[in-house]
Amino acid sequence: MSAEGTAPRGRSTLTARIERIHDHCADTRSLFLALDGRRLKFLPGQFISISIPLGDETRTRAYSIATSPEDRGPFEICFNTVEGGRGVGWLFERKVGDTLDFTGPFGTFSMERAPEVEIGLIAERTAIAPIRPIIRRAIETGARAPIHLIYGAARDEHFLYRAELDDWTMQAPNFSYEIVLAPAERLYQRLGEITNRRWIAADTNRARQFWICGVGPGVIKLRDLLRGAGYERRAVHYEQW
Ligand SMILES: Cc1cc2nc3c(=O)[nH]c(=O)nc-3n(C[C@H](O)[C@H](O)[C@H](O)COP(=O)(O)OP(=O)(O)OC[C@H]3O[C@@H](n4cnc5c(N)ncnc54)[C@H](O)[C@@H]3O)c2cc1C
Repeated sequence: MSAEGTAPRGRSTLTARIERIHDHCADTRSLFLALDGRRLKFLPGQFISISIPLGDETRTRAYSIATSPEDRGPFEICFNTVEGGRGVGWLFERKVGDTLDFTGPFGTFSMERAPEVEIGLIAERTAIAPIRPIIRRAIETGARAPIHLIYGAARDEHFLYRAELDDWTMQAPNFSYEIVLAPAERLYQRLGEITNRRWIAADTNRARQFWICGVGPGVIKLRDLLRGAGYERRAVHYEQW
């Protein structure tokens, strides 16, 4: 396929080469993946499914694409260590020049065009990965209503892409974000309180749309908080890792 070509999507296995590695901090890393001159076609928010040898078996693990479909060059995935996590442990051992087999892109947690209504985004730590291209798509497809991100983490170094988020607040006056630094065991409770204050108790507008991404049952609680408060089911997009 020519350099202008796009890779086939879906179930066929593709092989990517690790072009570059960036360590955000000691336990958080990005890999920049290239496909032999081809570009991966995907929607902001989608993920790939990487084949990972675990013992005698090959298992798959999902990783969101942290870059935007329009970006030239390699695409990025971003991940953190997980206690006892063998899949991500294997990924951390990869070196520049190694190859990874994957399928995808997959996923309905995505945004093709900005909706006309206000956009609320909630992300935790590396779960900013799918939210990042979603924000960019919202800004670039001319969202006029407010776009607000609530970004939580337990440690300061776990907030990623801060410079870019700051740039977007300058570029797009309707984009704003806040960081929520809270101990891991209380993080989702804090995210819930802030969500409640900003998007439930503050007014009776229930026409907003939401994209929520994070780890564990807290994501489902946030989803249910919003749906229970009167937002339509399909207006609350979520992805639980
Ligand atoms: C659609 C989708 C997209 C994903 N995208 C990303 C991504 O972009 N970056 C990323 O780091 N992970 C992502 N994940 C999680 C990833 O697929 C793995 O589950 C994770 O790396 C742990 O895998 P493991 O084999 O090392 O550990 P496992 O033994 O499979 O998982 C152990 C536990 O870790 C929890 N967990 C999953 N992800 C995290 C995390 N990031 N931090 C802390 N605990 C976690 C799981 O809920 C599970 O209970 C995604 C998951 C899904 C379903």
